[in-house]
Amino acid sequence: MKIRIRVPATIAAALACITVARGAHAQPGTPPGDDPVILIHAGRLFDSERGVMLQNRDILIRGTRIEQVGAGLPVPAGAREIDLRNRTVLPGLIDAHTHLLQSIRPTLRDTETEQMVVQAVMEGTPLRALRGGARAGAYLRAGFTTVRDLGNSGRFGDAALATAIREGSVDGPRMFFSGPGLSPEGGQYVGVLAEHPEIVGNDYRIIRGADDGRAAVREAANRGARVIKVYADNTPNRARLSADELRAVVDEARRSGLPVAAHATSDDAIRQAVEAGVTTVEHAYDASDSTFRLMASRGVAYVPTETSAAILDRALELVAPAGERPDSAWRASYLARGYDRIRRAMQAGVTIVAGSDFYQDFGMPQGEASRQMLFAYRQAGMPAARVLQAATINAARALGDDRLGAIKPGAYADLIAVDGDPVADFEAVGRVRFVMKNGKVYVDGENAPIR
Ligand SMILES: [Zn+2]
Repeated sequence: MKIRIRVPATIAAALACITVARGAHAQPGTPPGDDPVILIHAGRLFDSERGVMLQNRDILIRGTRIEQVGAGLPVPAGAREIDLRNRTVLPGLIDAHTHLLQSIRPTLRDTETEQMVVQAVMEGTPLRALRGGARAGAYLRAGFTTVRDLGNSGRFGDAALATAIREGSVDGPRMFFSGPGLSPEGGQYVGVLAEHPEIVGNDYRIIRGADDGRAAVREAANRGARVIKVYADNTPNRARLSADELRAVVDEARRSGLPVAAHATSDDAIRQAVEAGVTTVEHAYDASDSTFRLMASRGVAYVPTETSAAILDRALELVAPAGERPDSAWRASYLARGYDRIRRAMQAGVTIVAGSDFYQDFGMPQGEASRQMLFAYRQAGMPAARVLQAATINAARALGDDRLGAIKPGAYADLIAVDGDPVADFEAVGRVRFVMKNGKVYVDGENAPIR
């Protein structure tokens, strides 16, 4: 989530609330070579494909996959039973727009670019990846079992972290990462002098021509990227990729089987990205109604990186000294602009995919901060079930993996349980009491991450 605030003091962002990653915990009693069998009894279960809550369902898990879902399933011999009869079980949440390797904190002096440059040249990719590992743990404990991580990760530091998570060295969500975002000149490091291109190149892959765009996609694919991030425009300097470049990037990504996430803020750039055939549009700050209708007709999903009221208030507290904070009318109109975008997108029939774009330290675990985006969508008027779909099945479809985002036979055993029914009382989304990823339990009980 990018907070765009124009207040007397400069808003920026920055660094790492580093929560300490907890170590992995082996499932007890599993003979080597045997897939453990788990039967979960769920009081309520969210059917993400239909957007409805079901009562009293059992979930049979074998190894890393869900084998069966139904009412009153028999307990197989040797199965471990997990009683979540007083909980609501949901598919593991997906944040489709993260920056695990970036955290900058509010300051009154530096611009955001300056902080990012300092991060690039002084923090360095290895340390960013290690700190990203701590944040990854925070996402998992907050209920996110998958993230789509969209760059600002140094030189493929995201690839290193994704590998460490996949092999179990680091606890974290499944990580669909992009590598450096494909960008027009300057990246988002506006103001870095042309004689220091390596600084920009640390976090962005600058595209110069359609062939270069294709080459950049192949570089990312070669490093194991699961998604291509492209900047149709850069917010600060309004630099844009050409239609040719965007089409080449999308075409090459398609040949590599990779979806494309397009950062696009101006209406023109959004339209160009949609016409090029990207999978999702991120931010879409200035999208017109007709552009939203075009997105709906082309099946391009929207990732609204909006701010909840609570996060905005926290940001203002951190950034603006008392007495210099904007008044309540400013606050209301800031929030209203974001909510209006989401409402217009919904009215146009655009699929909403949840993505936080959190890369700022709000003094809370980053996973919890990201979960706040769901409250922003709810505050914008999205029905609770649709918010849950945005963070599960819709996001899974944007990732192009039908083993994610739903509790169904064949899906990964990625699920969470919350205290209460979030369709009736949305606050329940903030009360995550159980987290399982790939059949392994990471959180079980109130404030009880398994170590
Ligand atoms: Zn972002």
